[in-house]
Amino acid sequence: MKDRIRREIRLNGPIPVSVFMQLALHDRTQGYYATRPGLMRDFATAPEISQVFGEMIGLWAAEEWRAIGSPTPFNLVEIGPGRGVMMSDALRASAIHPGFTDAVTVGLVEPSPALQKEQAKRLSGVDTVWFDDLDKAPAGPSIILANEWLDCLPIRQFVKDGDSWRERVVGLGDNDDLAFGLTPPLKDLPASPPDTQDQWEYSPALDAMVDRLAERLRASPGRALLIDYGVTDFAPADTLRAYSRGKQVSPLENPGAADITADVDFAALSASARRHGLNVAGPIPQGLFLKTLGIEARVAQLMAANPESANDIAKAAMRIASPDDMGVRFQAICLSSPELPPPIGF
Ligand code: SAH
Repeated sequence: MKDRIRREIRLNGPIPVSVFMQLALHDRTQGYYATRPGLMRDFATAPEISQVFGEMIGLWAAEEWRAIGSPTPFNLVEIGPGRGVMMSDALRASAIHPGFTDAVTVGLVEPSPALQKEQAKRLSGVDTVWFDDLDKAPAGPSIILANEWLDCLPIRQFVKDGDSWRERVVGLGDNDDLAFGLTPPLKDLPASPPDTQDQWEYSPALDAMVDRLAERLRASPGRALLIDYGVTDFAPADTLRAYSRGKQVSPLENPGAADITADVDFAALSASARRHGLNVAGPIPQGLFLKTLGIEARVAQLMAANPESANDIAKAAMRIASPDDMGVRFQAICLSSPELPPPIGF
């Protein structure tokens, strides 16, 4: 992949960070997700750490299905489901609402064939349909879920230089190796940068995603629950990073072999959703959201039922909910159809 990107740059010049990220992560033949998605090797996610995460989301989804009027059939769609752990835990927990289990059609939006295979294994016995894009999910009432998906959407990076902005690009440096550089000052920007910052990240893909969600949520009642890490009251500045085997590495070192990610701009996400007429709840810290949904009672119940692993159960739950850990770094936001009341948990 690195050779391919080098060739591309030699032929056509430096590429924006978003194009680099698109290739390194999402290329259908050599990208990271298509070839070696490294969940629990390169990075750990909340549903993989504790089963309680998916269980709380499942209970939330079933409650919200009832709030929408218990439509049957009904789409439960997850975008970027990884190894299918969250969906499998969610479906088990939501089975206490038998009507929900009968009504639900599970749809998974997953472009990676390698991960589709893992999801099929974990969800064997569940009627599941795969799509490579949200647009292809059946019309109708829906609850859409995504955990740690927004952070892999490609971003563009801009740096202020005097009164103008330049865009960060990936080009060739010494020894023909990949290196970051800057374009000449730009005449136009894709959106308005914050006037208090001299570095700015903007995700065109985030806007495109809200566009598509809004189309769906305006056509039929539904909610989208999105959970990820990011900032809530200013725009991310310089958050592009890569992980390989749990360690932070340079994003340019081995494209295709490391997970590349950037903080989610929750302020831009909320503003964009509101512009599209959606109701927005949150963002609120993940720990608070899980607590409101009753994580403590569920953890106590699990610990009592499994005394020999009680300590591990408690530790895993602390990791995902504690303010010192993922509980505050991660945020939950819910975008809803215009006519719906606020969702529970916010
Ligand atoms: N939600 C899972 C996995 C997070 S990793 C968890 O919490 O464990 C990111 C996931 O998004 C992977 O499943 C990846 O293949 C998927 N993904 C990447 N690009 C995508 C896109 N454009 N549309 C949908 N899913 C995508």
